[in-house]
Amino acid sequence: MAKDYTNLIDGELITNGQWMDVVNPANEEVIGRVPACGKDELDRAVAAARRAFKTWSKTSPEERQKVAQGIAAAIKDNADELFRLLTAEQGKPHAQAQGEIYGAAGLAAAQSTLRLEEVINQDDDERLSRTRRVPVGVVGGIVPWNFPVMMAIQKIVPALISGCTIVLKPSPFTPLTTLRIAELIKGVVPAGTVNIITGEDSLGPLITQHPDIDKITFTGSTATGKKIMEGASADLKRITLELGGNDASIVLPDADVQKVAEQLFWSSFTNAGQICVAAKRIYIHEDIYDELSAAIAEYAKTVKVGDGSEQGTGVGPIQNKKQYDRVLELIQDAKDNGYKFLVGGEVDPSGSGYYVPITILDNPPEDARIVAEEQFGPVMPLMKFSTEEEVIARANNSEYGLAGAVWTGNPDKGVEIAEQLETGTVWVNEYLHLSPFAPFGGHKQSGFGAEYGIDGLKEFTYPQVITVKKNAMA
Ligand code: NAD
Repeated sequence: MAKDYTNLIDGELITNGQWMDVVNPANEEVIGRVPACGKDELDRAVAAARRAFKTWSKTSPEERQKVAQGIAAAIKDNADELFRLLTAEQGKPHAQAQGEIYGAAGLAAAQSTLRLEEVINQDDDERLSRTRRVPVGVVGGIVPWNFPVMMAIQKIVPALISGCTIVLKPSPFTPLTTLRIAELIKGVVPAGTVNIITGEDSLGPLITQHPDIDKITFTGSTATGKKIMEGASADLKRITLELGGNDASIVLPDADVQKVAEQLFWSSFTNAGQICVAAKRIYIHEDIYDELSAAIAEYAKTVKVGDGSEQGTGVGPIQNKKQYDRVLELIQDAKDNGYKFLVGGEVDPSGSGYYVPITILDNPPEDARIVAEEQFGPVMPLMKFSTEEEVIARANNSEYGLAGAVWTGNPDKGVEIAEQLETGTVWVNEYLHLSPFAPFGGHKQSGFGAEYGIDGLKEFTYPQVITVKKNAMA
C-alpha cells in the first residue's frame, strides 16, 4: 500500500501538502508519495543548514565521528526493512539491495575515522607556517537513482566529518529509502546539520544556483554535470562531480576462461547494468574470444530476470521508464544495423514492469551506438582484439574516463596495461571494489574532483595557511 513520506528540515519531519508519486519498477505500482518541494522548502533547509554550521563547524573530530557512527548504526540496525524498501523502489534484487544497505553503513563507519591533519610548512627560527583545513560551509548534495542510499551516505558523512552541513536531494525516482533513513537519523544528527528534501528535477538547478550554498556534490549524468558546473559558476561554488562512464574491460589471452566468465558477466549485469563503473565494453583477445564468449553466454542463460523481491532473481527491472526506453532504443539500433546477438535482444513490452532480457552482442563495430555510448542497462557488447596497443587505444577512445579492468594470468602485465588506461580507477582481476580510503573520481568527462578517502574529504574544505613570523616584535 502506498505510504506518505516526510522530508527532514531543521530536525523536523515535514510535508508541504504537494506530492510526487514513487513507482515500483517491477510492476509500475505506486508505492509511496513524497513531498514535491520548491524554493520555499529549499530556502528553509538552507537557512537551517547555515544556522547549524555555526556550531557544527566548531565541533571536535570525536563529536563528528560519533554522529557518523550513529548514522551507520541506524542503517545497520534497520537493514532488513531498508533493503526491502530499496528493492521496491529501485528494482535491484534483494541480495544486491542488502549489499547496498550494509555497504552504506560500512562506508559511514569507515569514513567516520578519516581525519584531516594540519600540515607544518615551515617551523624554524624565522617563522611557523601551517596549513589547516576549514569546512566550506553549506553543501548541496544531488543524488541519482542507481545507488540512492550509497550515494546519499557518501555525501552526507564526509560533509559532516569535515565540519560542513548539508541539504541533500534524492532522485525523484528513488527517494523512499533515503527518507526512511532521514526518519531514523532525526535524533542522531543535530538539527539542521542534515536536511533531506525531495522534488522534481527542477529542484536541482535551484540548489545549484542557491546563493547561500557554498559547494555542490553531485552524482549523475555527464549532461547534468555540465549544467551543474554552469549553474555553480555564478558565485564560484566548489563542485565535485561524479558522472557517467563507458568503462572498458580487457581480457588478455592468458586469462582463465572458466574463472573469468562469471565475473565478467556480473561486472556488467549487477544492478541490471545501471552502475557508473559497470563493464560497458568488453574486449576479449581473439585467441580466446570464441571460447569465452560462449562461456559468458552459457552462464547468462542460468540467470533469472525478474522482480527483485522474488527468490532467485539475479537481474531486476530497469529503474525507470525513461531509461528503459533508452535501452530499448539501443537494442533496436543494434538490430537495425544487423549486429549479431549472442543472447537476448527480444523485449516483451506487454506486461507491467521495465524488464529488459539479458542481452549480449557478438563483436559489434567500434562505432556502434552500444559500444560508443553509455548503455546503463543489461546489454553488453563483446569485442575481439588482436594486439595490446590496439586494445589500449580502443579503450581510451572515449570522452569518458571513469573505470576499467584488465583480466590476465599475469598481474604485472595487468598493471602495465592499467597504467596506460585514461581512467580514475582500474582493477586487475576483479571488479566494482571501492575502498572508503582511496579516492574515487573520473578523468576526462567522467567527473571533476573525487569522493572517498582523504582526497574526497578535502573537497569539503578550503586550505588555510597561517604563518607567524617569529621574534618580529622583539
Ligand atoms: P541525472 O543526471 O539525470 O540525475 C541525477 C540527479 O540530478 C537527480 O537527483 C536529478 O533530479 C538531478 N537533476 C536533474 N537535472 C538537474 C539539473 N539541471 N540541475 C541539478 N540537478 C539536476 O542522472 P541519473 O539518470 O539519475 O543517473 C544516471 C547517470 O549517473 C549515469 O550517467 C551514470 O553513469 C551516472 N552515475 C555516475 C556515478 C559516479 O560515481 N561517477 C555513480 C552513479 C551514476
